[in-house]
Order: sequence, then C-alpha cells, then structure tokens
Amino acid sequence: MVLAPPTDPSHPNDHSLIKHNNDPLHPAFLIPELCRGFYKLGEKIYLAPSGVQKERIEPEDIFVLSRKDRDFLRWPDHKPLKQSACTPLFYNAYDLRNAGACIHTHSQHAVMATLLWPGSEFRISHQEMIKGMRVGGTGAALSYLDTLVIPIIENTPDEEDLREGMEEAMRKYPDAPAILVRRHGTYSWGADWEKAKGQAECLDYLLEVAVRMKLAGMETVGMDQWTKQ
Ligand SMILES: [Zn+2]
Repeated sequence: MVLAPPTDPSHPNDHSLIKHNNDPLHPAFLIPELCRGFYKLGEKIYLAPSGVQKERIEPEDIFVLSRKDRDFLRWPDHKPLKQSACTPLFYNAYDLRNAGACIHTHSQHAVMATLLWPGSEFRISHQEMIKGMRVGGTGAALSYLDTLVIPIIENTPDEEDLREGMEEAMRKYPDAPAILVRRHGTYSWGADWEKAKGQAECLDYLLEVAVRMKLAGMETVGMDQWTKQ
C-alpha cells in the first residue's frame, strides 16, 4: 500500500488541523519538538515528513490522516514533502496494539544488538530498567523478574515493505513491547506519546547494556553472567 495525498483539487486540505497556537502538547508542535514520527490524537494521525532533517521539521510540514480509512485530512503544500515511509508500520501499532503513539529509531545499540543476536529473538533479564517496559507496549509494566523478549525481523530495501514482517512478529509475540529490525533500528509504541517515549528510552538503554554485556562475554539472561567464560 502506497499512501499519497490526494491530487484532486476539490479534496479539502484542512490546514486548521496544524494550528497549534503555541500549545506545547499539540502534535503539530510536539512532533518537531520530539523529532519523532507519529502521533495519534483520537481519530487523527499526525505524521512527520520523510527525507528531511528531523530537527528542522516545522509544524507546517506535518501530515494529518484519519485513523480509520487513512484518508489525508491535511498535507503540506508549501513545499514538496512525502509522509514518512514508516506510515504502514505505524498503523500496525495502532491496529494491533491500540497504541496512542509509535516511535521509530535508527539506534546504533539496536543495530549492534541485532548483529550480536543473529536469531529471531532478543532477550534480557534481571535489569532494573525492564520495569520501564510494558506487556505488549500498552499493558501492565514488566517486573524486575520478567524476561524482556523482543522479536527481530529482517530488514528490507524499502521501509514500507517491513509491514508484513512486523505484523507477523507482533501476532507471534503479543507481549512484546517493540520490534527490532536487523541492521536498521526499533519500532516501539505506547498508550500515549509520553509512555511511548519512556519505553523507547528504556529499550535503548537495555539494548546498550545488552550489547556491552555480550561483548564482555556475559549472558544477558539469568544472574549467572560468567558461565560462558
Ligand atoms: Zn527506518
């Protein structure tokens, strides 16, 4: 599915949807602020453009889509912009997990973790920061005694082609709060933008610790770190 704004000039392009009146919590204000991709406000999806420098996104660059039928409600027409290539992947988080926000990163820790864990799963246990993650991303918080399991899917040359692999992994791992894409990065989500951001930060921390442990010859699951020495 390739989404594109309507070319029919009679299709309404509602610029009032990005009028933020300097409200720091309005998505058109918040997305440039957080330099992230996607935000759901009720039945509307706020989406950043692709191929731009994320720290330079302006509120006027934001796309607004309806959640239900993915209709374009507002798109930038002041310069030629395309909505994020991750759009179909973010809809996975909304449709399968009822997420309120979804975050995509190209974290080097994630890339290294997917190289050091060559299989289809990443696992870590007995880390305080696991408590920052939630069952399925939107459920109850994990405990220190839980093992965090994140599926790893293979990358594709075009980002939108990850959609099916991501959906398959999300269905196979209903408790996983994120997806790792090999040699690429992470997709994680939460009930709202604050929880999504908090989990993305915890996940990045845990991936960094795991990579360091692995490189130091330690196991990341269990308490018996040195058994492989
Ligand atoms: Zn990406």
